[in-house]
Amino acid sequence: MSVERAMGRIREALGPRGIVEGDALAPFVRDIRGTYAGSAALLARPASTEEVSAVVRICAEDGVAIVTQGGNTGLCGGAVPRGPQPCIILSLARMNRILSVDPERYTITAEAGCILQSIHDAAASVDRAFAMDWGARGSATVGGGISTNAGGINVLRFGNTRDQVLGLEVVLPDGRVWDGLRALRKDSSGYDLKHLFIGAEGTLGVVTKAILKLHPRPAYEQSMWAAITDLGRLMELFVLARSVASEGLTAFELVPGYTYEKALAQYPILQRPVDTRAEWYAIVRFSGQQPVAEKFETFFEQALEAGLVTDATLAQTGAQEANIWNLRDEIPPLKLLKGKMLKWDASVPIDRIVPFLEEAQRRAHAIRPDLRVIAFGHVGDGNLHTSIFPEGGSPGDPEFDALCKRIVSEIDELIWSYGGSICAEHGVGVENFERLPGQKPAVELEMMARLRTLFDPQGLFNPGKVFDPATHLPRAAE
Ligand SMILES: Cc1cc2nc3c(=O)[nH]c(=O)nc-3n(C[C@H](O)[C@H](O)[C@H](O)COP(=O)(O)OP(=O)(O)OC[C@H]3O[C@@H](n4cnc5c(N)ncnc54)[C@H](O)[C@@H]3O)c2cc1C
Repeated sequence: MSVERAMGRIREALGPRGIVEGDALAPFVRDIRGTYAGSAALLARPASTEEVSAVVRICAEDGVAIVTQGGNTGLCGGAVPRGPQPCIILSLARMNRILSVDPERYTITAEAGCILQSIHDAAASVDRAFAMDWGARGSATVGGGISTNAGGINVLRFGNTRDQVLGLEVVLPDGRVWDGLRALRKDSSGYDLKHLFIGAEGTLGVVTKAILKLHPRPAYEQSMWAAITDLGRLMELFVLARSVASEGLTAFELVPGYTYEKALAQYPILQRPVDTRAEWYAIVRFSGQQPVAEKFETFFEQALEAGLVTDATLAQTGAQEANIWNLRDEIPPLKLLKGKMLKWDASVPIDRIVPFLEEAQRRAHAIRPDLRVIAFGHVGDGNLHTSIFPEGGSPGDPEFDALCKRIVSEIDELIWSYGGSICAEHGVGVENFERLPGQKPAVELEMMARLRTLFDPQGLFNPGKVFDPATHLPRAAE
């Protein structure tokens, strides 16, 4: 076992174009938020499945861990090294080709390093729509989306990433290639193994190729920006939108006035869609093969009459539509607020979204009345990105750390008491590694441990992320 020996062999296998070393590694060993950082012996950039397989075999033989990386836009620290174990980063950046676009099958086949935006462009070129879409579409990859089972703004209509995957090619931790690249809508021939790799965050294999679903491209798509009267009646607004548009309701997002104002101040290019100021806004998108403007008229009239909204505007041009969604991309507090951010990528049953938020605020303020609670997100999917900012302290200070711990455990418990998850769409990574066992029954942890050990008996694939039998199983056995 030697990391030096592995490095020499990987250099030989990939050549200079396939390796990044030394100072050039800096952007790859640190996550996008700057929260997590580690070190790696090198970054391998294989250009084909065969090269991925060769690198994985070398690492398996020489006992070197592998952290697979796509666009490094993950929000849980899953794509950067953690801990002292010698490791390399395996980047899919050079495996970014679209292999085929099949409009009649409604599928696209792509290498895992393909950027989401390029899949959207390829789909649009054959009059089809691609569902995986979120703010990081310009950098996030197909492989990263699959490995985190990402969500985004289209889940309400098309489901999350798991629902978009028809087939996968995966390099297993011993270097063998599993060819599961099947474009079948139906296949009941036993265990559907692709689902094990979806959401596995690089712990069970390296996803190298995927066949993904395409959808009919809606001829009409428009979004409304609405100022909400009373957050407590948000579900009434959602149900009204659903009843008016039925399947044509393709997005329903909640926007907090606080970060909306901050985004407007920080990015002067963004326009205020309505003059009315509110504590909360909703973005509602209708799509379909027939014009949707009339449906919006009905929706707005009924919402106004019921006192659910005070003001709203319907995007009439491409620029107005883009402005609404650019605003949506910029309201996450990550880039707008400074200081320690405690975050929950929470999901609860949809009808519990508002009670959850109100109770989270109540519990946070019971701990310290000045705690700022910010929530936004894909309410139509029961997914609320919730953050709490404990200002006035810094990590490392025992009192501050104890406060953060208390807040995290209070909100985690609240989410679980509502039958929810602390990892709705961003995955577990490092962020939720310690907390995951609180969410799972012992038998589930045991099944996860067996799977992980079955696929990766040496524990070399993304160690210290998602789930670790050695760390978590003793608790499972309690
Ligand atoms: C501005 C912004 C907005 C975002 N909005 C959303 C959102 O709305 N919804 C959402 O779900 N996420 C969102 N994200 C999070 C992020 O974009 C997703 O988690 C995305 O899926 C990560 O893709 P990536 O290619 O960057 O993967 P990375 O960050 O590189 O990796 C993520 C995880 O997947 C593993 N991995 C990556 N590629 C492979 C592969 N080929 N095989 C095996 N394992 C692999 C990594 O080891 C890591 O564990 C957002 C991020 C940003 C910065």
